[in-house]
Amino acid sequence: MKTLSAKAVPFVDIPAQHRPIKQELLLAVEQVIDHGQFILGPEVRTLETEWARIAGTSESVSVANGTMALLLTLKALGISEGDEVIAPANSFVASISCIALIGAKPVLVDVADDFNLDPERVRDAITPNTKAIIAVHLTGRPADMKTLGEIASEFGVHLIEDAAQAAGASSDGKPVGGFGIAGCFSLHPLKTAGGCGDGGIITTDNSALADRLRLLRNHGITQRQEDCQLFGFNARLDTIQAAMALVKLRHLKPSNETRREHADHYRKRLSHLVRIPEDRPKDHSVYHTFPVEASDRDELARFLDLLDIGSAVHYRIPLHLLVACRNLGYSQGDFPFAERQANRTISLPVHQELTADQIESVCDAIESFYSQ
Ligand SMILES: *Cc1c(COP(=O)(O)O)cnc(C)c1O
Repeated sequence: MKTLSAKAVPFVDIPAQHRPIKQELLLAVEQVIDHGQFILGPEVRTLETEWARIAGTSESVSVANGTMALLLTLKALGISEGDEVIAPANSFVASISCIALIGAKPVLVDVADDFNLDPERVRDAITPNTKAIIAVHLTGRPADMKTLGEIASEFGVHLIEDAAQAAGASSDGKPVGGFGIAGCFSLHPLKTAGGCGDGGIITTDNSALADRLRLLRNHGITQRQEDCQLFGFNARLDTIQAAMALVKLRHLKPSNETRREHADHYRKRLSHLVRIPEDRPKDHSVYHTFPVEASDRDELARFLDLLDIGSAVHYRIPLHLLVACRNLGYSQGDFPFAERQANRTISLPVHQELTADQIESVCDAIESFYSQ
């Protein structure tokens, strides 16, 4: 069987990402083994300090993964049964499972052409039970945080950023993760700031919230021998993961820049063949993925596959039509933009290890598909 990275143009190539930094990573792991503080060791703190710097926030709390970042944030904000949390209908399931898992109700809202929450539809979805809005920076493109921030303060609800796909993105010079009450990031290997396993980070300027998150991730205690303040989880980031994430963080900026160049390249060659979502002029997108809307999407994917070019679909089923969402009472047709994107988008390979020649060959292939 062919592995993903055995293709002429692989959709992702995780091993290639690590070949040049393997010695640095091994050294970082070795240092942790030598000091032996595998749980909440010094590298965890260092990573948090680095991350707060990247997001421009005063605090950052690391956790076990991006999903726990979202779930603990909702929990720390006191959101629970009977509360409603607004989220986009087009995202990865973790953007809403966190809401349901704490007993609150996910209220889905359609997205706009840019794949992100449509602020005007958010306004319409707010009820007296609404406690928070989760804005996802899908594909690494910042959601309209200015407008969403205005709506959130107008109605007195929390604005939370799901920045799992957007580490390093910014809007009007301000990094994502610093717009809402909290920013939730993922260190999953496929994400823009991917580590070498699972991990998550929460950024915030609210020190009371940060303290509560530190309790929630560690059984409600701060020091081993202390009293338990509240029931918490075991949702800490491993020191070994923090140490490796620190090494990889040094490569975040250059790899984001390379993906932005790939995206420009695609834009120049493909804009007349497929619909490429626009970035607002002041947004700095980091292209975790590069989805385009294409007619005959599935045939195009098969055609690319025959030419040994990887592609993917993000996401084939919009959130409101997932089996897990049946009890929310949504049906087909409720969110036309999210449904159109699910039916028409194809994500082209955009990872930082690709060469300009490989991007050219994807463009050539798409051109020949549409000239058949
Ligand atoms: C990956 C992802 C998450 C969850 O992150 P994990 O670290 O995998 O738990 C949440 N939201 C979005 C939009 C994601 O892409």
